[in-house]
Amino acid sequence: MSDLTSNLEKLSGYLEPFQSTGVSHHINGKNLWSKSGDTFQSVSPVDESFICDVAKGGAEEIALASNAAKNAFPEWRDLTGTERKKILHKIADGIVARAEEIALCESWDTGQPIRFMAKAAIRGAENFRFFADRAPAARDGQSLPSPTLMNVTTRVPIGPVAVITPWNTPFMLSTWKIAPALAAGCTVVHKPAELSPVTASILMEIAKDAGLPDGVWNLVNGIGEEAGKALCEHPDIKAIAFVGESRTGSQIMKQGADTLKRVHFELGGKNPVVVFDDADLDRALDAAIFMIYSLNGERCTSSSRLLVQDTIADAFEAKLIERVNAIKVGHPLDPATEVGPLIHTAHFNKVSSYFDIAKTDGATIAAGGARDGDVGYFVKPTLFTNATNDMRIAQEEIFGPVLTSIRFTDEDQALQMANDVNYGLTGYIWTNDLTRALRFSDKLEAGMIWVNSENVRHLPTPFGGVKASGIGRDGGDWSFEFYMEQKHIGFATGSHTIPKLGKL
Ligand code: NAD
Repeated sequence: MSDLTSNLEKLSGYLEPFQSTGVSHHINGKNLWSKSGDTFQSVSPVDESFICDVAKGGAEEIALASNAAKNAFPEWRDLTGTERKKILHKIADGIVARAEEIALCESWDTGQPIRFMAKAAIRGAENFRFFADRAPAARDGQSLPSPTLMNVTTRVPIGPVAVITPWNTPFMLSTWKIAPALAAGCTVVHKPAELSPVTASILMEIAKDAGLPDGVWNLVNGIGEEAGKALCEHPDIKAIAFVGESRTGSQIMKQGADTLKRVHFELGGKNPVVVFDDADLDRALDAAIFMIYSLNGERCTSSSRLLVQDTIADAFEAKLIERVNAIKVGHPLDPATEVGPLIHTAHFNKVSSYFDIAKTDGATIAAGGARDGDVGYFVKPTLFTNATNDMRIAQEEIFGPVLTSIRFTDEDQALQMANDVNYGLTGYIWTNDLTRALRFSDKLEAGMIWVNSENVRHLPTPFGGVKASGIGRDGGDWSFEFYMEQKHIGFATGSHTIPKLGKL
């Protein structure tokens, strides 16, 4: 039996409960459906087949969930960090125990190749463990004595928070946001992406089995403009952690303005990979290919703009074309598959539209540039050459397995092009000249930069973007900075003179 056949058999077992009962909301410890009875359907991008019905929440369900999160907050806040740590580790254990199910369901729901989803599920567990271990120290502060006061600071959780997540690697991204919120002592209302709702529901079950008290973490499924909007506007929600498109971030900021929400945004990118002629070109090639064609190119940190020095561009692009044409497009549950289908018909149409845009703007389609097969939302891995940095294919986030190659002559021009874009999430620099790498990194407008490396996440480091790529940082203690408030308390150390008003 091929791995694909065996994965499909296992998947059908795992999906059976969702297909028979559907995916509901989970509010205050209970699964429930929308009062209106409204649902929507989740379909697989592989063959457009029905996966399950999903509850379609609105303002009413958001109010119930926000209320539950508000009521559960004092008890969860006042639990010791050590107790929270234990529960979060149990959630991590539950993820590991169900990792195969999570990976297969996620792969089927999103079209992401199983080879990456298996790792993403485990990374979800690591996110929980990382923040679990930090929970006991989350409230720690400083002592800042002055001559008359013993000043101390402490951190307190901000309250119930909204977590709104996108459809690309939805499981891993949900854990990345929810784990630190819970570790900090916040309660959560999670609104997962409507295009990939299945694994959020598995994660919720795991949390319940781990003994998370009712109401601490609530799940409301639904459409962004309805459930998401209502969540951003709800007065009991104190902060919004959002991962998604830059223009949605802008809408969310407006929606949260009346209730003065704190926001944390992880948004889009158009990230440069800059290859100088003194670099280790074989490694640069491997990394450039991996960072744009893995995860179907549906990856915020993808290196979607290749800036290559003109002295090596012909040779580098020739090798690139050969490799891009050899990338295995196929069924996401086949372990051999490197690129699967795009998430949805609308996204498929968006990505495909850039094939014509590239031609109209005068670029060359050096590889791909077409649909792959007749069923499902597959596109061939694509490379545009002869591009300039002002073209739409160089400026807009395509969010598919599509790379735009642009040539530069010297470092100044490379830097100017790298920065001449609205986004600023990541940058990748390939050179063996350390001084140049330092100089370039210092001037590159990006939140995260890797030199002679692909994106290798180290959880204690800050994750986030500048410009239209985001606001705020995740990782390490930065996540707690968002989910917690600094509080100052000053204790008088003696009887200092207090100014007297109205005393004769
Ligand atoms: P999206 O913005 O369309 O949707 C993301 C989430 O927001 C979904 O749950 C959606 O229902 C919800 N939403 C939509 N409109 C809303 C509204 N008005 N109010 C409240 N919620 C609303 O994004 P997407 O298409 O699901 O995801 C792809 C995008 O996410 C890409 O731009 C990608 O770069 C970005 N992304 C960024 C990071 C990062 O770390 N910077 C990580 C992953 C994805």
